Amino acid sequence: MIKSVLLSENQRRFVREALDAKTLKAVIVPTGSTEQHNEHLAVVHDTASALHVSRLAAENLFPQVIVTPPLSIGISEHWMDHKGTLTLRPEVFNQVLYDVCDSLRRHGLENILIVNGHAGNAGPVNQQMDAFRQKLGINLAFHSYWEAFTPELIQDQMESGVCPGHAAEFETAFALAAFPENVDWEGVDYDRAKLTISDPNRAVSDREYHQQAKLANAEKGQAMIDAAVDWITEKLKAMI
Ligand SMILES: [Zn+2]
Repeated sequence: MIKSVLLSENQRRFVREALDAKTLKAVIVPTGSTEQHNEHLAVVHDTASALHVSRLAAENLFPQVIVTPPLSIGISEHWMDHKGTLTLRPEVFNQVLYDVCDSLRRHGLENILIVNGHAGNAGPVNQQMDAFRQKLGINLAFHSYWEAFTPELIQDQMESGVCPGHAAEFETAFALAAFPENVDWEGVDYDRAKLTISDPNRAVSDREYHQQAKLANAEKGQAMIDAAVDWITEKLKAMI
């Protein structure tokens, strides 16, 4: 069987033996981004959050589920006003995602759950999912992990009422619970920051998200993470 839920941490023999013994039943492919997350959150956030909930869900079902390395650069053209954002063209992102899924299929894996952490990926991938399924002929699903959250949970946990938002209360709370070193408020001075946001609507929401982020704490983040992990675990069980 596999020795770690992270594919990257296994030697080939563990993967081979798990496939031969049929103990390995499903794969998660996390998808994220490397993009601006306002003044205080690290650009890795979407990738790190997708990987975090994926890993915990796979651990719930150990050793039946393995997690590939995340696709850590996503479709982020809309944030290119902000230095540090990297973006792939939608067709390139989809082709890379397809090839990862096809690699898994060629090894005999027939249940693949793509767990997404970046909203910008969702539209372009969803458009291709039927075509991917048809070409691959396997059980393939795509979900953004915040689909787990009911309106009641959001109402309960998010003072701003906004979820997921962008680098706002929810994502900041997630980071405080899972990787607090990615939250850095030191020296943040939003009013003096030399921002160059070309879309006036985005400039307004950027400021709102900045304010909402201050409502975050680790307890809220943990409650949301727990809900997402339970939801993904159930999705995987249904697939298997
Ligand atoms: Zn994000």
